[in-house]
Amino acid sequence: MRNFLVVGAGLAGISVAERILQKGLTVRVVSNSKWPSSTRVATGMFNPIVFRRLNKTWMIDDVLPEMHSFYGQLENRLNTKLISNHAIFKHIGSEDYASFWNEKSHKSAFESFLDPIESNYGKVNQAGMVDCPALITTYIEFLRSESCLDDSTFNFDELSQEGSGVVYKGLKYDHVIFCDGPYISKNPYFSWLPFKIAKGDWIVVETDEALPDRIVNNVINIIPLGAHRYKLSSTFEWETESWKPNPEQIHTLLRAFLEIYPVAYKIIDHQSGLRPAASDRRPYLGRHPRLGYMSVFNGLGSKGVILAPYFSKHLIDHLVDATPLIKEVDIKRNIKRFQAAH
Ligand SMILES: Cc1cc2nc3c(=O)[nH]c(=O)nc-3n(C[C@H](O)[C@H](O)[C@H](O)COP(=O)(O)OP(=O)(O)OC[C@H]3O[C@@H](n4cnc5c(N)ncnc54)[C@H](O)[C@@H]3O)c2cc1C
Repeated sequence: MRNFLVVGAGLAGISVAERILQKGLTVRVVSNSKWPSSTRVATGMFNPIVFRRLNKTWMIDDVLPEMHSFYGQLENRLNTKLISNHAIFKHIGSEDYASFWNEKSHKSAFESFLDPIESNYGKVNQAGMVDCPALITTYIEFLRSESCLDDSTFNFDELSQEGSGVVYKGLKYDHVIFCDGPYISKNPYFSWLPFKIAKGDWIVVETDEALPDRIVNNVINIIPLGAHRYKLSSTFEWETESWKPNPEQIHTLLRAFLEIYPVAYKIIDHQSGLRPAASDRRPYLGRHPRLGYMSVFNGLGSKGVILAPYFSKHLIDHLVDATPLIKEVDIKRNIKRFQAAH
């Protein structure tokens, strides 16, 4: 398998394309840059800790090193700053949570991630941010410069099987990988996979006075942007597939912000997007159950930044070198749904 067609140029599509190129193989990416995308509005945070239960983020010891190496390599090639480390200061809201935090921070498995509480804040180390808009913009430009980009809507009617591969717009490929993010519900081959799309809104406020220059989490993240500007990110809203900013979410964001910083502010930006979250919150990887010439990479949910580098490699190694997929991410876990739908 040498020649790939990839549909979608968000975090999933570009990481898969990059893994294909790293193996010395060829790729063409079809993606409509005029459509809204999850990656374009992603805040880009990575956090090794899940705050609710103070667990480590799933597979953190594997995904974190792969993430640093992946974006580090891309920074060099794209000549763009993409990744930066920032501690997150979690506001501690109750005495129960404080003792839970302090207990965890003394466990050897958590020592490198959690510092004990000081002045009502617990510090999370090894967290940070990837500049997703810069990543997407520069990577798409790179694909364009290599003549590997088709910036248009993928037309499913123009895809046909030929031998063990496919033909699309008159060109032959050995394999097609769908990385269509929240648009998967319109994909005739993979729409049977169960999703729980989670809409997110964020706003930027400008304050009269300077606030502490550190990322604070009070359910939402309060991220200093410079020049007295702070990003409040982000909300979770289910049962909607609208990409449009929801004015009702502003109240939720401001309430969490004002609880920490009761200051005068004005709102200067408001954006939103859809997170492609799988029902069981694990990514979707693997070949179509019947059409062996096509695969899917999706379900990155709210953790695309940290999951995409590791699992794009996992999928391409599987397709090219026949290494097994781990069961938790293999789409075969939903085979009964596929059988029921077909
Ligand atoms: C408000 C918000 C904040 C977030 N913050 C974070 C964060 O801090 N950290 C984090 O890790 N994650 C965050 N996320 C989640 C992150 O954005 C996603 O995990 C990730 O971007 C998903 O990438 P994707 O490639 O699957 O989807 P997308 O980025 O949506 O990419 C899909 C692409 O496919 C293209 N496409 C689909 N179908 C077609 C077609 N038929 N023809 C042509 N093109 C097509 C679309 O144009 C799009 O460009 C956030 C998400 C939101 C909404």
